[in-house]
Amino acid sequence: MIPISAVQLGPEVEQQVLEVLRSGMIAQGPKVAELERRFAELVGVRHAVAVNNGTTALVAALTVLDIGPGDEVLTTPFTFVATLNAILEVGATARFADIGADDYALDPVAAAAGLTDRTVAVMPVHLYGQPADLGKLAPLAAERGLHLVEDAAQAHGARFDGRPVGGVGVGCFSFYATKNITTGEGGVVTTDDDGLADRLRLLRNQGMRARYGYEVAGHNWRLTVLAAAVALPQLDRYAEQVARRKRNAARLSARLAGLAGLVVPSELAGREHVWHQYTVQLTGAVGRDELAAQLAERGVGSGVYYPRLVHDYPCYAEHPRVVVGETPVAAAVAARCLSLPVHAALSDAEVDQVADAVAEVLA
Ligand SMILES: *Cc1c(COP(=O)(O)O)cnc(C)c1O
Repeated sequence: MIPISAVQLGPEVEQQVLEVLRSGMIAQGPKVAELERRFAELVGVRHAVAVNNGTTALVAALTVLDIGPGDEVLTTPFTFVATLNAILEVGATARFADIGADDYALDPVAAAAGLTDRTVAVMPVHLYGQPADLGKLAPLAAERGLHLVEDAAQAHGARFDGRPVGGVGVGCFSFYATKNITTGEGGVVTTDDDGLADRLRLLRNQGMRARYGYEVAGHNWRLTVLAAAVALPQLDRYAEQVARRKRNAARLSARLAGLAGLVVPSELAGREHVWHQYTVQLTGAVGRDELAAQLAERGVGSGVYYPRLVHDYPCYAEHPRVVVGETPVAAAVAARCLSLPVHAALSDAEVDQVADAVAEVLA
């Protein structure tokens, strides 16, 4: 079976991890700061603050922006549940605006219409590795005096007009096992703001600046040095890995574009897509679930990201801080989307096998 994602960690990772294990210091160590330096470089910002997962990155960002009860955060309903849970965890209210049909991310016009006098932040998600429309969302947030919190969990190194995502607003990244860069569990917050970075570092470590010198009630949001050791060699190879994903995406599209009943994804003008997922839409007689089942029979894995809108579950239906709007584009896409393998471990022959299988089922 060709898997929808694959973790490929080479001997460099093994060596770095062994080094940490043998040092006897397995919680914290200099590799965490090294990872932060390297990641800040990737995002083109002054600060990257490593945390224990991507959900924590979102919670931490909202927390240091003083977002909480009574505040509304405007976001997309077509995302992983962590986006919503982070808003709820800080006590804020989540409101939703529709997505664009091309980028599957928060639509600037819908976002503008969704703002209320309680909105304090706009939170786009750079879904599948393609940047949301930061060219319009960033000015929208700035004009209204709103924070821009970027859920960049799927978009390490993606760029809008040459600017890396996560560096326009406050960036939140994940290093979960399936993400483009992984530590199993891990995350990072990126910002150019010295004050925010300082508060993030304080809160991450129990509110402690000097040993036993507590300045605020904090948390344990720390990423382990073992995790940092897993990430560092991946940064060395990341450009090459993204290039491979791009090649795979282009190879899939060369074969699949133009097939009846199928919409293939594209990299929009001015945006650099890092192809976390290659997601098609099924618009004809063969539905998404049918295609997924037929692909499985042909040894091709696939994934549905995401089968329902993020708030469309009983646990949120009666939630007093979940405000649902009309989001017809998101609803349509959730019913029709299917992600195909595009990861860097695929050979050309495997990419062709994926494309051939899709073409055969649709024929
Ligand atoms: C993975 C992901 C997260 C959360 O990351 P974790 O590291 O799993 O906590 C948040 N938002 C989106 C869009 C994601 O894909």
